[in-house]
Amino acid sequence: MATPLVAGNWKMNGTEEEARALLDDLLPRLAADRAGVEVALAPPFTALRTVGERIRGSGIALAAQSVHSATHGAYTGEISAGMLASLGVRYVIVGHSERRRLFHETDADVAARAAAVFQAGMVPILCVGEQESERMAGTTVDVLRRQITAGTARIPQARAETLVVAYEPVWAIGTGRTASPAQASEAHQVIRGTLTETAGDAAGAVRILYGGSVTPASAGSLLHAPGVDGALVGGASLAAESFAAIVAAAR
Ligand code: PEP
Repeated sequence: MATPLVAGNWKMNGTEEEARALLDDLLPRLAADRAGVEVALAPPFTALRTVGERIRGSGIALAAQSVHSATHGAYTGEISAGMLASLGVRYVIVGHSERRRLFHETDADVAARAAAVFQAGMVPILCVGEQESERMAGTTVDVLRRQITAGTARIPQARAETLVVAYEPVWAIGTGRTASPAQASEAHQVIRGTLTETAGDAAGAVRILYGGSVTPASAGSLLHAPGVDGALVGGASLAAESFAAIVAAAR
């Protein structure tokens, strides 16, 4: 069985000082609770160095929330994969629904970003998920298949098995509503099946996380649902107690 991965996406929260305070509270709790679970933290770009220094040697992985696909150049405000790698980043979230919706990232952008992350020696956490209207219209499977096929179109076959996918139904993100464990399992099965078509045998090793309002109360049933290999946690990763409890639930 794959080692479960629990990743905390801090989104646009946390000055350097706030990041330090959160880690002061979180790291001792994780030291006790994370055996057998891989943990990653995705602070804002501005706190990557601070967080990276604090978690060095702890086994906790540093993650970034986004990346540009170009290696360098006239892209004001953007950050390249090489820049992230130079800070010790291991995972990069690509295709988060907030990036797709608020910043108009297309499937093609997501594919290019995932490829750039691999190119720089890191691992993408490729986010996919249907909107509520798509679920109501019965097109969830089509949406997931399209996003997985497009998002993995440019990844190197040799690294495909290290890919991480996060199934994040858009209607569950930041809403306090979660998919049921059965809905999560069903979606994960679709994702795994599509990955098998695009990446062959490597698909079996890809970790597929669930994301969308995971809390300590929902974590146990979601994390142990068939086909779920961990969680991408937003809001609940901003409080040490709740994030550590979710990590503990993944064991
Ligand atoms: C996310 O944005 O990746 C996420 C899962 O957020 P939340 O847990 O707050 O729904």
